[in-house]
Formats: sequence, C-alpha cells, structure tokens
Amino acid sequence: MRRMDRSGILDHLQVAPKSKAGIAKIDTASIKGAPGDKKETEAASSELNQRLADLQERLWAENKRALLVVLQAIDAGGKDGAIRKVFGGVNPQGCRVTSFKAPSDDELAHDFLWRVHQATPRKGEIGIFNRSHYEDVLIVRVHELVPKKVWSKRYAAINDFESQLVASGTTILKFFLHISKDEQAERFRKRLENPEKNWKFRRADLEEREHWDEYQEAFEDALTKTSTKAAPWYVVPADHKWYRDWAVLSVIVDTMEQMDPQYPPPEEDLTSIVVD
Ligand code: AMP
Ligand code: MG
Repeated sequence: MRRMDRSGILDHLQVAPKSKAGIAKIDTASIKGAPGDKKETEAASSELNQRLADLQERLWAENKRALLVVLQAIDAGGKDGAIRKVFGGVNPQGCRVTSFKAPSDDELAHDFLWRVHQATPRKGEIGIFNRSHYEDVLIVRVHELVPKKVWSKRYAAINDFESQLVASGTTILKFFLHISKDEQAERFRKRLENPEKNWKFRRADLEEREHWDEYQEAFEDALTKTSTKAAPWYVVPADHKWYRDWAVLSVIVDTMEQMDPQYPPPEEDLTSIVVD
C-alpha cells in the first residue's frame, strides 16, 4: 500500500465543502493510509496519543482558543471506544465530554441549539461531543419528531451556529464513524453473548436498525449540507477499530499542530527570582 502523509489522510477522509459526502460508496472496512498492519498502526496511535497529550497541555496553558470534536455514528458505531482510545492519555482537566441523550422537557422547551451551546468548550479546553446537535437532523428526521419544515431548516442554522463558534476561536472537527450493517449486527451479537457487554445492549437499538437506510440517507444529507471549510466532516471507515482510532487521532493531531498552541510567556522576568 502506498503510504500517505498525514495531510494526505486528512484530504482523503474529509467531505469537501459543497460536494456530496457519498457515504454509500465508501468502504467501511478501508484501512487506506494506515502506517501498517494492526500492530504497527496501534504503535503509531500510541505515539499520536503522546503528541495529543502535549498539544492539549499547550492549548490549556495558552488559554486562548478551544477545540470541539463532534462524534456521530449509527448505534454500535464506536463513539465510546473512540473517545476512550483517542483521549485516554490526555489530562482530564481541560477536556470535557458531553453525551447528548434524548432532550429533557426543559431542553425541548428551548430551541434545539440551546443545550448544545452551553456544552461548547471554554478557551483552553477540548470539548468532545458524544452525539450532538446533529441528532436533531438524524433521529429527529428519521422518526419525524418534528415536521420536515422544521428539521429541514436546521442545516442552515447549524452552519451559522458553527461558523459563529469558529469566529470566536473554536476549531471544529466532526467525525462520522462509518460501519457496515453487517458489522453493526456483529457488534450487537457480541453485546448479547458477552456478559460484560450485556449492559450495552438495548432492544431499542434493534428497532433503530430497521431504519438503517433512512439513517444512512439522513447522515448523507447532514454531511453534505454541513461540511464547511470552517467546520469540516471526516468520514472514518470504522469496521476496524484500530484504523478508526488512528484516523481520528491523525486528524486531531494534525489540526492541533496547525493551531500550534503556545505556552504563554511568564508574567514577569523570572531570572532574578530565588526560591529560598
Ligand atoms: P446513547 O448514546 O446510546 O446513550 O443513546 C442516546 C439516545 O438519545 C440515542 O437514541 C439518541 O438518538 C437520543 N438522542 C440524542 N439527542 C437527541 C435529540 N436531540 N432528539 C432525540 N433523541 C436524541
Ligand atoms: Mg446506544
């Protein structure tokens, strides 16, 4: 396999703004651009974990900008696993994970972005969204929880919201973890068979699975309409967990290296200070 440098992988996975995402044509088992086999790729990921830890410390110390990482996937797509593997080594201080569940009555009494805006990262922080405002054009669309004339206007609202966050110093990366329908079945079976995974099994997930095609269509539309230069989507083939983790890490580390956060200079000249 031809090796790709990391910016090559970014281009390869990114949904180019104003073009179709084309998720149906993307091979969910692809390992394109991986630095080697599973073992070699995991070793590369460990190095990226270290780099991410260092970059996060700098971002935190700099205290001027933020990073928002949005993770979306079909059920069993690997959002939880990716969060554990990608961010496992970073200082929990300065990292905030928000898992978006079905909205409460209070949240439903506000506009759909209300709860999301409150969860956005502060300066210096990495915010991680496990599900996000995109549920409002995914599950909401598939189950018609609001009429089409309401959800169809949300793509533009999302683009405005995200561009406003970017303008105020937040870098946004959005990942769609893309698995096949067979892989989802395999993962559900493991949840049923393995007592330690039983807790993850939800009967409702099987009902959602019956809407597979509608979900794929909703993802296709969301990714196509909201992948912008300011806040791009990356489609990560996610049948192989080791590839998924490496790809997500690569995009995040590369982006943060471009952000190049700096330790702030000391407030005063420290050279003459002596600690007795
Ligand atoms: P889980 O991530 O497995 O804990 O499940 C959370 C559930 O909350 C999923 O079924 C989501 O689709 C659902 N959910 C999250 N956000 C929304 C939303 N805005 N409207 C309706 N359901 C949502
Ligand atoms: Mg679930």
